[in-house]
Amino acid sequence: MHVCLSYPRLILILIPFFVLSTAGTIRAQSSARYTLVIHGGAGTITRANMKPEMEKAYLRSLEAALDQGEKMLASGRTALDVVEAVVRLLEDDSLFNAGKGAVYTHAGEHELDAAIMNGKNLMAGAVAGVKTIRNPITAARSVMEHSEHVMLSGRGAEEFAKQRGLEGVDNSYFHTESRRRALERALEAERKEAKEKQVPSAKNTAMKNDWKYGTVGAVALDQYGDLAAATSTGGMTNKKFGRIGDAPLIGSGTYADSLVAVSCTGWGEFFIRMVMAKSLADRMRFGKQTLTIAGHELINIELPRMGGDGGLIAVDRNGEPIMPFCTEGMYRGFVRKLSGAALSQRQVAIYKD
Ligand code: ASP
Repeated sequence: MHVCLSYPRLILILIPFFVLSTAGTIRAQSSARYTLVIHGGAGTITRANMKPEMEKAYLRSLEAALDQGEKMLASGRTALDVVEAVVRLLEDDSLFNAGKGAVYTHAGEHELDAAIMNGKNLMAGAVAGVKTIRNPITAARSVMEHSEHVMLSGRGAEEFAKQRGLEGVDNSYFHTESRRRALERALEAERKEAKEKQVPSAKNTAMKNDWKYGTVGAVALDQYGDLAAATSTGGMTNKKFGRIGDAPLIGSGTYADSLVAVSCTGWGEFFIRMVMAKSLADRMRFGKQTLTIAGHELINIELPRMGGDGGLIAVDRNGEPIMPFCTEGMYRGFVRKLSGAALSQRQVAIYKD
């Protein structure tokens, strides 16, 4: 077939490419495809208890994270680089329960967990219970790339991060007033409950009362077809005894292989028992379930059946994103560019509806 393009027609076809490249944000070839999905935690997040300025601030932060991630994906950076960079950005954002803004432990400190996994080669790294590393996700990546281990914890992880030249901070760097008040409310509720029902003090009332949301995570499919996942958290308000959640446990809160990348948020003990992220991958690989069905069954049926709550984000090798959750809300968003499309699709959301 002979196709003849007149000069004005050619100009019309070229305009979208010109606009995008001069805008400086999306410079990918139109044949390139990529997806980035992010979360900022799941929990009792309702319109009724959200101030309009807070809502705006959260949406701004989610948009900024997607902007940064998309710029990187469009310019050809790997999924691994992108999930680390995006989670770092969210760690530095005091709105979220990761890095600056992490929740308080029972002892009035901050103990952070993070993990990263490269679906391309199944390499993974994690840190748990660290108190002085500014960006735990970068420490997790460093464990993956510069040690022979997968997970380091506490003092040892901090020593390793120091040797690698990562930025250290005083534990007070992570402080925010709102997280301090959340601890006070949790302690008060715990005292009340212990008095009324004689509940042993090892129980964490905050888990039931849902003062835990704000964990952050990112999963991505890059232009080369590779997947990666990253999760970072301060854990749960009022946690005790060196409690570690699901986020740094490879296969529970974080997982990536050649089919899917997953990052979870919610009541960690349940995600650990369900080996949530790997269960999703297994349902796809061995059960031949689609991403959407596997995610729905795990989060909306199995998790509540066990008594837990939360959500997850995932992306499969086709760039299909999912963001299921069984709580009232989940800070979340995705950007996806299909191959051949000039523009990407984007969504950010907080509530269920
Ligand atoms: N899953 C995290 C934990 O249990 C908390 C959260 O995602 O809100 O440590």
